[in-house]
Amino acid sequence: MSQGFVTVSFIGASIMFILALSGLSKPETSRRGNIYGVLGMLLALTAAILGLVSANYFILFGGIIIGGIVGLVLAKKVEMTQMPELVAILHSLVGLAAVLVGFANFLDHNPSFVGIDKTIHDIETYLGVLIGALTFSGSVIAFGKLSAKISGKPLLLPARHFLNLMLLLGAIFFGVLFVNQSAVGGGMVPLVCMTIISLAFGVHMVMAIGGADMPVVISMLNSYSGWAAAATGFMLNNDLLIVVGALVGSSGAILSYIMCRAMNRNFISVIAGGFGTESTAQPQGEDSEGEVIAITAAEVAELLREAKEVMIIPGYGMAVAHAQHTVYEITRKLREKNINVRFGIHPVAGRMPGHMNVLLAEAKVPYDIVFERDEINEDFPEVDVSMVIGANDIVNPAAKEVPDSPIAGMPVLECWKGRSTIVLKRSMATGYAGVANPLFYKDNSRMLFGDARESLDNVLKNLD
Ligand code: NDP
Repeated sequence: MSQGFVTVSFIGASIMFILALSGLSKPETSRRGNIYGVLGMLLALTAAILGLVSANYFILFGGIIIGGIVGLVLAKKVEMTQMPELVAILHSLVGLAAVLVGFANFLDHNPSFVGIDKTIHDIETYLGVLIGALTFSGSVIAFGKLSAKISGKPLLLPARHFLNLMLLLGAIFFGVLFVNQSAVGGGMVPLVCMTIISLAFGVHMVMAIGGADMPVVISMLNSYSGWAAAATGFMLNNDLLIVVGALVGSSGAILSYIMCRAMNRNFISVIAGGFGTESTAQPQGEDSEGEVIAITAAEVAELLREAKEVMIIPGYGMAVAHAQHTVYEITRKLREKNINVRFGIHPVAGRMPGHMNVLLAEAKVPYDIVFERDEINEDFPEVDVSMVIGANDIVNPAAKEVPDSPIAGMPVLECWKGRSTIVLKRSMATGYAGVANPLFYKDNSRMLFGDARESLDNVLKNLD
């Protein structure tokens, strides 16, 4: 295949990826966005295989077949609730690929690079390996935290900021050494030293971040994986990889910003770590005096039937219980009775950005009754019944009322301002951030204990 054809294919694939991103920005167009992404990747792979590869087809196709089978099995097997950890581990593979390509590129001394070109190429290699190693180890730790294999509590080493600074200075020192030594045919030792430093930095950075801030970590690692791919693109002189890497890197950075805003966090302080340190064992403030009041499914159905305005607030527990289809059936029934049902979605609900929107779309809940937190938070005083389904942190009044709470300052859905709130969960356990929730003790709160799916099935039966 001619170089011209490869270039045209790469431009076509870049356009497909841009269309994919723009499609994925709205639930209505996300399916189309996904298809563009698949077509773009197909085009990119075909052009790369036909145009750039001239030998070792056996190894290439062996890799594609093995990787394809692993991907297919994982995609079929993985539960919706395990998606965030899958995404984290996939990010780690991007990082690992950047490290391996960087080392391979370094070992394969290309004689066409001399003088300043060689220095630039060495810096690209160094940065690619640095970002790749950081992304790899950080993503593996994020995977461990999201799958509860590692505690969500932040690891706060003494003098951790000093340690980070030392690691950064070490990376710069070895960078200078690497460029100097590479000019005279060496450089492997500083490259290996920096890789170790970078791996340690990734582990330390994510270990220091508290459970409540994990959404920012996920989007940040997403961004890093993009920059690692872009750096690999520079190393390999591959324009498509640079474009795609920059798209992923910048969209991940924008998502990190959105997540920080959603949680009222400062990006630098999230990275510096330490939030979400303590779990407040008991709810604080006057509400901790009260007792929780349980309610039955029949009583919930009665409350819903009498309501005019209903707000449904889904959280991670709805995903665990696979309750979205029953939620849809209840919504349909209530709307048939001319009750206004809306959904309030918190940006960090669930375990990945957009988690709730995906589940509700899957259950065919109409998009026009699904609202972002900022769009409906003012409306709670007019809401008759708020139904909190497997959500906890995103409706925790401690964020507003308890100044030293680990989630203090995080904007939450203020359902307690409505006439009544029904909370569906199995126990009094805390949510992901490990912070006790005074909402359960409010006078106008009622607890419907049990698996959300079973509880909602019972509510649905009682609605007839
Ligand atoms: P939470 O983790 O705060 O709470 C979920 C609640 O669901 C739990 O309290 C649990 O209580 C309940 N639950 C679990 N299983 C079931 C079930 N089968 N039936 C009924 N209830 C169930 O979730 P939220 O969505 O409120 O908040 C999201 C949290 O996750 C935030 O802290 C956010 O920072 C964090 N996070 C978000 C990410 C994102 O990108 N969206 C990524 C990483 C972390 P019980 O055990 O008593 O049933």
